[in-house]
Amino acid sequence: MSRTLEAEQVLDPSDRLYAIEALDISCWFGDHYVLDRCSLYMSAGEVTALIGPSGCGKSTFLRTLNRMHELVSIAKLSGAVYLDGQDIYAPEVRITDARRQIGMVFQKPNPFPAMSIYDNVVAGLKLNGVHVSHREKDDLVEDCLTKAGLWKEVKDRLRNPGGGLSGGQQQRLCIARSLAIRPKVLLMDEPCSALDPTSTRRIEETITELRSEVTIVIVTHNMQQAQRVSQKCAFFLAEHGQPGHIVEHGPTDVMFDRPQDPRTSDYVHGRFG
Ligand code: ADP
Ligand code: MG
Repeated sequence: MSRTLEAEQVLDPSDRLYAIEALDISCWFGDHYVLDRCSLYMSAGEVTALIGPSGCGKSTFLRTLNRMHELVSIAKLSGAVYLDGQDIYAPEVRITDARRQIGMVFQKPNPFPAMSIYDNVVAGLKLNGVHVSHREKDDLVEDCLTKAGLWKEVKDRLRNPGGGLSGGQQQRLCIARSLAIRPKVLLMDEPCSALDPTSTRRIEETITELRSEVTIVIVTHNMQQAQRVSQKCAFFLAEHGQPGHIVEHGPTDVMFDRPQDPRTSDYVHGRFG
């Protein structure tokens, strides 16, 4: 009974969108202070792009948003992350619940290569304790592959291994897998940096379509991509051995056309980084 209820909750597609807010997030790896009091409100149903030079803490920040930072044994953090007003670091929140609601897509596509396309999509369900019937599973697989922009290409070979797909298709398979557990937020860490331009554009189209389903936070080094896909932007910088911090954030068009800080202007115009 409780499992069915849980499945219904997780699979309810009519749920509203959630905002995610970081408040004064600071991070360390051992004694190395890498992020200094970062606060950012990431609006529900929008794409927020995190930009800035390598090593300024974008990935670290992203990983605090679904409690992956604490997977590193020497990692520490302070601050809070609110998902729809609930602090995901509160003692009563289970880490698995936080990660189920806040999914992650990585730089390098990481499907299970020997597992079928179909099984890849549903791979997260069992891990997250979600039970669905066979019939529901078929619908879910079609729905998630459609949303990830991959259904038409793979519908006749769902039993083929995920590893047989192209890099761009594998990344869309990973997006479908993330969507299957109905996250409220999807974190993407340079999801296109290993892909060719055509595959990159497909992922960007997918991101734009997904925005009505899930709040998205994406790290990108590609300024054109940030402009194409995001509504808000945050510019991170780590200067002179100091920990990374957010120099400026705001609507993407403002960040690119009339930023307040000269460092933002220099960065978005390719003058450094
Ligand atoms: P970005 O994604 O902006 O390139 P990162 O968040 O990966 O930056 O890194 C920020 C800082 O944290 C860097 O100095 C990096 O060396 C350090 N760092 C990242 N991951 C680890 C780790 N697992 N262990 C130790 N230091 C790390
Ligand atoms: Mg990174």
